[in-house]
Formats: sequence, C-alpha cells, structure tokens
Amino acid sequence: CKIDYQPAPNLLENRIVLVTGAGDGIGRAAALSYAQHGATVILLGRTIAKLERVYDEIEAAGGPQPAIFPLNFEGATLKDFHDMAETLDKEFGRLDGLLHNAGLLGRITPFEQYNPELWQQVMQVNINGPIWMTQALLPLMQQSEDASIIFTSSSVGRKGRAYWGAYSVSKFATEGFVDVLADELNNQSNIRVNSLNPGATRTQMRRTAFPGEDPFTLRTPEDIMPTYLWLMGPDSTGTSGQKLDAQPPRV
Ligand code: NDP
Repeated sequence: CKIDYQPAPNLLENRIVLVTGAGDGIGRAAALSYAQHGATVILLGRTIAKLERVYDEIEAAGGPQPAIFPLNFEGATLKDFHDMAETLDKEFGRLDGLLHNAGLLGRITPFEQYNPELWQQVMQVNINGPIWMTQALLPLMQQSEDASIIFTSSSVGRKGRAYWGAYSVSKFATEGFVDVLADELNNQSNIRVNSLNPGATRTQMRRTAFPGEDPFTLRTPEDIMPTYLWLMGPDSTGTSGQKLDAQPPRV
C-alpha cells in the first residue's frame, strides 16, 4: 500500500496509458489523475457521454489531449480487440500503461439462485474480455521501454465470501492470471503486471453492494490514487507479480 506516496508532478510525462471503465468511479479518478501527472490517457468504456465528460475535464485542466475508445466488454469480440490494437498502433505506436478497472458486480445472492447468464456476463466483463484485450495489446506494450499492466482485484478475490458468486470467482481468476502472466514476462523486464485491490471506496458499485453503509465513512477514489500512480509510473519498475492494496485495511 502506497497511500502516502508523493508522486512527481510529471511522473507520467510522455506515457500513453489506457484506462478501462474510465467514465465513472475509480477509473474516472485514475484517468484524471494520470492525465494530471502528464499521461496521454485513452479513455475506454461503454457509456460515451461519461467518457466525453472525463475528456472535457482533462482538457479543461490543461492535461495532454486524451482519446476516447468506446467499448462494451459484454459482446466485445477478439476482432474488436485486434482492431483496437491496430488503431492504437497507428495513433501512438506503443502503449506504456494498461489499467484494467472496468468491472461488473453482478448480484449478491445465494449461489443456488445465481442466474447462469448473469454469471457469464460477470466473467466476460471482469476477466475474459480483459484477458483477450491484454493478449491483443501485448505487442504494443513490448514497444514501450517501461510498461505497467494493472489488474483490479478485490478482497473477495483473495478470500471468498458467501453470496459474492461470479464477482468473487472473477477476481480470483484475475489474481491467477496475474501470477501466470508475470511469471511468463519475467525475462522481459520492460513489462510488469500486478494486481491491485482498491479496498472499500465511495463509488456506485460499493453503494450497490452495501446499501446500508454510510458512504462518508469510505475513502474516495481520489484518496486512493497514490498507489495507482506509483504502480503506473517508473517508481514501481521491477515490481511484478505482486498483490497490492491501494489503502490500509479499515479498522
Ligand atoms: P463503478 O461501478 O463505479 O465503475 C465501474 C466502471 O466500469 C464504470 O465506468 C462502468 O461503465 C465500467 N463498466 C462496467 N461494465 C462495463 C462493460 N461491460 N464494458 C465496459 N465498461 C464497463 O465501480 P468502481 O469504480 O467501484 O470499481 C472499479 C473497479 O474496482 C472494479 O473492477 C471493481 O470490481 C473494483 N473494486 C471496487 C471496490 C469499491 O469499493 N468501489 C472494492 C474492490 C474492488 P459505466 O459507467 O458506463 O457503467
């Protein structure tokens, strides 16, 4: 956990960073924060109006001109990911950072009542889509001198919990995939891959999962950005295959 990390103002200067689920919640905060620290951010998500608002906020703050990439992980095909790689290759020629942040909660419900279609959807958005997108983008990351891939995990991706169904399983799969990929990329020191658990954070997803909770007891997406910046920037070079937390556990 690097919540006390003090990033240099130009930490991500000249870096091209893609953030999924960039229109809302933690992804929105990460996109704004990465741009504020100098990154050219590619805003990927399914609701274009939200991405446009983030785009405008980055421009208004004087950050490097971002790009918008509309994509819904539900229904996205391998071709979509390869077209994406081709477009990014033409536009930028490389990719220095990839924050897998988009996520779907599904339903908190006893497993006996879990709808199998919803289960598939959650697995598609939280793990299968991100895996094939990563495969398509790896050649572009190999063009970077110092590339960071971050997968977003959860406490239920490290210890299962009753009723959390596909969400928990998708986050366990995320942790497993990070282990596999980090081990494979071990000798290619230019790409690191880690998993990051944001911890309880004041967003719509958290409100849906814990409707009785007072959101003002929670850290905001902005509060947890130091760890997101540390992992994306050069200060974490050499750190790979790790399971990190963006905030200390709540007491
Ligand atoms: P939000 O629900 O606030 O934001 C999720 C983002 O993912 C939204 O921008 C959403 O787009 C996007 N998204 C959802 N489904 C799709 C899809 N099919 N295709 C493309 N984009 C999609 O959640 P958080 O910000 O809270 O969560 C961000 C990440 O952090 C997730 O991976 C979550 O699992 C993880 N996490 C969050 C915790 C918390 O306490 N908040 C705790 C532990 C983990 P749109 O706005 O258009 O719906």
